[in-house]
Amino acid sequence: MIRKITDILKEQERTYSFEFFLPKTEAGTEKLFQTASELRKLAPDFFSVTYRAGETTKWLTTEIVSRLQKQFDVPTMHHLTCVGLNRAELTAIIKRMKQENICNVLALRGDPPPGEEHWVPAPDELSYCYQLIELIRSNDGFFSVGVAGFPEGHIDCPDKATDAKYLKIKLDAGAEFVITQFFFDTKDYFEYVTRLREMGIAARIIPGILPISDYPKLLRFCRSLGTPVPQYIHSIFQPLENDSEATYRAGVKLAVKQCNELLDGGAPGLHFYTLNRVDPIREILNSLKR
Ligand code: FAD
Repeated sequence: MIRKITDILKEQERTYSFEFFLPKTEAGTEKLFQTASELRKLAPDFFSVTYRAGETTKWLTTEIVSRLQKQFDVPTMHHLTCVGLNRAELTAIIKRMKQENICNVLALRGDPPPGEEHWVPAPDELSYCYQLIELIRSNDGFFSVGVAGFPEGHIDCPDKATDAKYLKIKLDAGAEFVITQFFFDTKDYFEYVTRLREMGIAARIIPGILPISDYPKLLRFCRSLGTPVPQYIHSIFQPLENDSEATYRAGVKLAVKQCNELLDGGAPGLHFYTLNRVDPIREILNSLKR
């Protein structure tokens, strides 16, 4: 029986979880399973797999999550987005998830499709994540539902207070825990948690950790998210731009420091954006004062 993440959160003060991105090729899928096989040895509380709408990817997350759960017996959270799917398609995916015993879902609006800066929903599509939560909840109590949170504020949101207000709407619609976007400064995470607690939000806020392994890619990613990159990150990684081994070492060192600060400050665990790689995650976890 696959456990609900909400039940795991009730029992454990801290959780450690690993996110995989949806692979683009058969070889990528096999690499994901090899990575999961290695990371399972670190006793994760759950895995998660991202979602990307499209002709070839529509059912892929469901297939991979189902296979991961069967092969490794680790609860695996299915990301699901509003972007690219109409209400009937979402309903069909939710139905299939139930059939496959996938009871953990991360409800999201989704990134705009490639090449589009802003996404405008079609008339039969949902506009916001809270509407997807309502759709999931209209089923029954089968699902445990998580949502995304943005310590630095979401790129399309005017300010942090409004961002927190929209997060509360998602929780009021039935979401039960939050996984954050990655951030550089742990102060941003703790301020975010304080802001949410002051609004009466009690849900667990699990920090998302991105170990830096590719500086130019990081800059592109941050640009797309509207996340400012602090000067100290440039100072560490710019001189190492052509040295992948040194970048790897610096990325692990920085992530270990960040994770220890988070745990020492009371964070309820860590969610790693693994980028489907084993080594940095294993090294970081083995270095932590857990
Ligand atoms: P929403 O909460 O719907 O917010 C979207 C925008 O609308 C925000 O600007 C918000 O301020 C605004 N808004 C929200 N509610 C309201 C309202 N009631 N009225 C007016 N405005 C409102 N993307 C993928 O495509 N696939 C993935 O698998 C994926 N996984 C992710 C995992 C994590 C942990 C995180 C942090 C992000 C992930 N994303 C993924 C990215 C995410 O889909 C995007 O950041 C998206 O732009 C926002 O999603 P959301 O669920 O927070 O949307």
